[in-house]
Amino acid sequence: MSVFSNPFFSDHEEVVFVHDDSAGLRAIIAIHDTTLGPALGGLRLWPYANEDEALTDVLRLSRGMTYKAAIAGLNLGGGKSVIMGDPAIKSEPLFRSFGRYIQGLAGRYITAEDVNINVEDIEFIHQETEYAVGIHPEHGGSGDPSPFTAWGAFQGMRAALEKTFGQADWASRSIAIQGVGHVGMHLARLLRKEKARVFVTDIHADRVQRAVEEYGCEAVSGEQIYDLKVDVFAPCALGGSINPETLPRLRCKIVAGSANNQLATPECGTELDRRGILYTPDYALNAGGLINVALEIEGYHRELAERRVNAVYDIIRRIFEQAETRGIPTWQAADAIAEERIAALRPARGRYLENPPMRSIRHIERASVSR
Ligand code: NAD
Repeated sequence: MSVFSNPFFSDHEEVVFVHDDSAGLRAIIAIHDTTLGPALGGLRLWPYANEDEALTDVLRLSRGMTYKAAIAGLNLGGGKSVIMGDPAIKSEPLFRSFGRYIQGLAGRYITAEDVNINVEDIEFIHQETEYAVGIHPEHGGSGDPSPFTAWGAFQGMRAALEKTFGQADWASRSIAIQGVGHVGMHLARLLRKEKARVFVTDIHADRVQRAVEEYGCEAVSGEQIYDLKVDVFAPCALGGSINPETLPRLRCKIVAGSANNQLATPECGTELDRRGILYTPDYALNAGGLINVALEIEGYHRELAERRVNAVYDIIRRIFEQAETRGIPTWQAADAIAEERIAALRPARGRYLENPPMRSIRHIERASVSR
């Protein structure tokens, strides 16, 4: 396995491979870009088939975090981490060991929740490092970020509906949600509250059942979800669900979901545009969770978090405006906005290195040796 020749290596600043046999820990931490600030991004626990798969995932996800923070106007860089393991086998030693490695990065990377990681796991990590967010409200944290991610996605979806139909008019809309986990379930609840028609699928039958019984959603199979004639297809499971096989089947007008890396390739985004399907860039639509946890760094206020997450609506509108003005697909417009912010600030900021005194000491030592 080579990092530099991986197709998803994208000038990442730092990739750390972590191994602690005594704790059953095998993990990869990827810091993509720290121009805007320390790299913040969640930890994912997944039974990857092999190390290449884990590396590819963490490289893609960390890059996405750079873009997400940049487009959300946050002073944060992009990073992500993955633990290779069975989500059914979690332990205190596993997360505490991981926390010690995070602490070793001295603040260049701040971890948080992602798939298969919950507040309790973050609490274990937090016992070993201050560089963890999404910690329990009892300890001054914001807890589970998924309600905020769902709220942001709901606001972004509103912008997409207004763009397509002139108004959101939820009660006459239909939405197909792929994956009713943490975010998907909250999204289903919000949409049903507005009386939208909501179809759901999940590989866990009990989650589908809950969405049907508690919120009045309609269950469909994992295959059917792509073929539904709906207004919005909302991928809220894992990445890559918009790919050359599924794309020709889509009969929706909008793609707007919380999953990271929904497009198997950027070309899929261009193809959606060509087919007249409005793609709401994933990392912008799902920025609510990041906007929320980022507030923990400066001191958490729930009301302020709620107000800030509303900004997803404006972020999505800006992407649509730029796409139209520049005559480019929405995925490209989002990338351009994020890249232009980073490029403008790069000369003034450089890379984020938490330990400047250490660096200056070493610099002085070297200087005195050379004298
Ligand atoms: P989750 O694990 O709680 O939910 C994902 C759901 O998708 C699960 O219920 C799972 O069973 C289901 N699923 C997996 N594969 C599926 C398939 N092929 N078909 C149908 N369902 C399938 O995760 P989550 O926290 O809700 O996150 C969902 C997505 O949103 C992920 O891509 C995550 O990276 C992204 N995201 C989450 C947050 C957050 O705040 N949790 C923030 C930003 C982005």
